[in-house]
Amino acid sequence: MTLIAGNWKMFKGPVEAGTFCRALREADLPDDVDVVVCPPFVSLAESVQALAGTEIGVFAQNCHWENEGAFTGEVSAAMLQELGVYGTLVGHSERRQYFGETDETVGKRVRAALDAGLHVIACVGETEAEREAGETDDVLRRQLSVLEPDDNLVVAYEPVWAIGTGKTATPEIARAAHETIKAVLDVPVLYGGSVKPDNAAELMAHHAIDGALVGGASLDVDSFAAICRASRS
Ligand code: PEP
Repeated sequence: MTLIAGNWKMFKGPVEAGTFCRALREADLPDDVDVVVCPPFVSLAESVQALAGTEIGVFAQNCHWENEGAFTGEVSAAMLQELGVYGTLVGHSERRQYFGETDETVGKRVRAALDAGLHVIACVGETEAEREAGETDDVLRRQLSVLEPDDNLVVAYEPVWAIGTGKTATPEIARAAHETIKAVLDVPVLYGGSVKPDNAAELMAHHAIDGALVGGASLDVDSFAAICRASRS
């Protein structure tokens, strides 16, 4: 089964999220693609409500490893579950780049979320400098070293140089990275980095690519639904 997840980043408050999700319910989505949206924390409740009774999953964008405590600004897996949230992203490169996320904290967040029963999309990927230095495989192996196989775990390969830049990895680059990841961890692997309706089919064609994590192009219902349709197996 192919999985297409839309990462909204810090876009769409509750009102806009509700409007989007009600439109997504009516959109032409293929039956053989699992569809997930990842709204900001404040829009999760509205999104869960607007998508109730559908197969479309709602994921958070992060989750803390403790159940509760003095961790200002953080949200726990138990709190997400109370809202009816199905899973969470962890370790997005923007969290690693701008908010001090490390491999160690990613490992703790993933473990706690899985233990609580959430599904997890854990993000890995090299920077442009790391790729140019020939370090891609080492970086991926290091980032994966904190993860263990789990039925509810999916990895997203997101080369940092391709996120929000319009530069997409060639299918060959994506395939090679996905095979490296799958050799370390036997879980489904999504590709992320400037996926659009017109490049989704080519990227999804390879059997090592199990779906996509989509940023910018997931913010518009028509473009997100078009990516889901282009990705059907
Ligand atoms: C992302 O944020 O996970 C992402 C892949 O963004 P974009 O599709 O905009 O490159």
